[in-house]
Amino acid sequence: MKRSTMIRDIKMNYEKKRLRAHRKQEEKRNAIYDSVPELEEINGQITRLGLSVSRALLAGKSQQQVLSRLQSEMNQLKERKQTLLQELGLSEQDLQPEYDCSDCQDRGILESGKHCHCYQQELINRAYAMSNLSGILEKENFRNFRLDLFSDKAFPEEKSSPRENMMHILQRCEGFVFNFDATTNLDKPNLLFYGATGLGKTFMANCIAKGLLDRGKIVIYQTAYQLISLLEKHQFQEKQDPQTIRLLSTCDLLILDDLGTELTNSFTNSQLFQLVNTRHLEGTRTLISTNLTPKELMLRYDDRICSRLFAYYDFIKFFGNDLRWQPK
Ligand SMILES: [Zn+2]
Repeated sequence: MKRSTMIRDIKMNYEKKRLRAHRKQEEKRNAIYDSVPELEEINGQITRLGLSVSRALLAGKSQQQVLSRLQSEMNQLKERKQTLLQELGLSEQDLQPEYDCSDCQDRGILESGKHCHCYQQELINRAYAMSNLSGILEKENFRNFRLDLFSDKAFPEEKSSPRENMMHILQRCEGFVFNFDATTNLDKPNLLFYGATGLGKTFMANCIAKGLLDRGKIVIYQTAYQLISLLEKHQFQEKQDPQTIRLLSTCDLLILDDLGTELTNSFTNSQLFQLVNTRHLEGTRTLISTNLTPKELMLRYDDRICSRLFAYYDFIKFFGNDLRWQPK
């Protein structure tokens, strides 16, 4: 689903919710009026009187006497109404529509013109649902990231310790989330994590996903294997939901995990190229994670893909000892 489609869908849902609340209120009110017809009559009188009061107010000082008479009449009506309601064990509240969100009355927009908190939440919920990530992110986010798991001893053939390296990566990734909407200085708007398994690449990708989802961005997570299978199916077996396919190019961030685990053939190469290229043209951002070294990437993928990766992706190297086998 494209972002604009999603927003239209959310707006339609608000209208439906409001309509439902109003219909329910009407049913409830009619039932109450049926049992106490006087209430309906009083409500009608209150409405008419309200109009007269407004008119008197507009007319200004000369109407002062009329106004106070109308107002005392109004108070009497309201008291009578309250008594009747009390006898039924009800309150004024019971005659009003019950909205899911009382702050915006299910409009999604506040009187100030700003979006309501319930609207923001709805955006986030939908983005989560689409990401394929809903479950994992409670455990894997920047807050739960433990730098102390990484060794602070120098690592063979590297200038820094794994911990120092992770510190830089963490900063880079937090910056990526924080400056996601910034359009300046984006000669390398995408990230490419490389390094052996078990060094925190997926964890870090999940941290970024959560950071962006919580800002209402649309993030899609796919392993390269899943993605290629999906595209293959779409091409050769049955058409997939066009919105899903479109979203692969248009979502704010696509996380392509485990690049290199998919089968390599000309189909894969052309699909990957198209994806990388379309996302570049759309101005949407991508995070690729792979166990392959840059050299291995060059051997495996054709020049069109590699030239784009090297031009538009910030290569970030993960190194250290496999964390999966260390006691936590
Ligand atoms: Zn609201």
